Amino acid sequence: MTPYDRVPDQRPVPAGTGLTLEDALPAPEMAEAGGVPARPRLTRTVAEMRSALRELVAGAADDDASDAEPVTVGLVPTMGALHGGHAALVRRARAENDVVAVSIFVNPLQFGDPADLEHYPRTLDADLDLLAAAGADVVFAPDVQQMYPGYPDAPIVTVSAGRMGEVLEGDSRPGHFDGVATVVAKLWNIARPAVPVLRSYFGQKDAQQLTVLRRLATDLDIDVDVRAVPIVRSPEGLALSSRNTRLDAAGLEHALVLSRALRGLADAAVAGEPVDVQAARRMVEDEPGVELDHLVVVDRDTFAELGPELLCQPLRRDALALVAAHVPPVRLIDNMVLPAAQD
Ligand code: AMP
Repeated sequence: MTPYDRVPDQRPVPAGTGLTLEDALPAPEMAEAGGVPARPRLTRTVAEMRSALRELVAGAADDDASDAEPVTVGLVPTMGALHGGHAALVRRARAENDVVAVSIFVNPLQFGDPADLEHYPRTLDADLDLLAAAGADVVFAPDVQQMYPGYPDAPIVTVSAGRMGEVLEGDSRPGHFDGVATVVAKLWNIARPAVPVLRSYFGQKDAQQLTVLRRLATDLDIDVDVRAVPIVRSPEGLALSSRNTRLDAAGLEHALVLSRALRGLADAAVAGEPVDVQAARRMVEDEPGVELDHLVVVDRDTFAELGPELLCQPLRRDALALVAAHVPPVRLIDNMVLPAAQD
């Protein structure tokens, strides 16, 4: 076993595993033969979503009447413009649950920059094809008024992500994690009464978001099992993101520096060598067309930053290297686990 086997998101993704967009879509021969999987049921309101979930749960219970286990529902919250990263979440939910639900909602509360919200890609038709291939049963795609009646006036009650929402990404994007926590709490509360067991799937790509949402479930006693899925990358190493579609060829090339810098740190950690964050920062800063926001190494659980005194020696515990940078016109994030040195 290599140290990378303990951090599966850093292993290269083999072809044909369903982890790339191409893998998620039906093969052309299959489409021609009419073998395209059925699109998931599309719901637009809370009432429609709950009623579809109740029907699907009842159907799953009937299909497996001999099984005493409760029907499980896997919910995958997304903002649409789906790619192979989202497909990996949906496939994982499909493999682990009786019913798979996906939400598609570009949540205005988590955007600080109005231009980012306005230009965020919206591709519902293509999304439904991808979700058919990945095996979703039902999609919840509400409009803003359905989620926040009276918007743009702020919703009266929102969720605070607390201290974890104020550091790192939260420091760069004030209010972002409060918006994420608010929408995800709503999505869980929409689904929860209609299903016996609720699991919710999130990508390791948004590592701080994952930590905030685990705390959301625990701290507000929401009965949901939060499950994490490794980062899906392009063959060149770029973490797949809906925002990548707004990059031109040069931007896509420049953006590769992010995973290259993280990989250098991970390789050093695996070799038991000092982790040179300054050199990684310089690598990103020297890349044309890229403006570094932050590159830090943090404790994997607490997100407390590790200083030079801890990084100049072999790591005692798994850490996380996080990077955020502007590659105009978008801001990208990525992260990699730095495995603790083996004794
Ligand atoms: P978004 O649509 O960007 O809000 O993302 C929806 C979910 O997909 C989040 O849980 C993300 O962390 C996850 N996700 C986005 N990109 C990737 C990726 N490249 N690999 C794994 N998960 C991802």
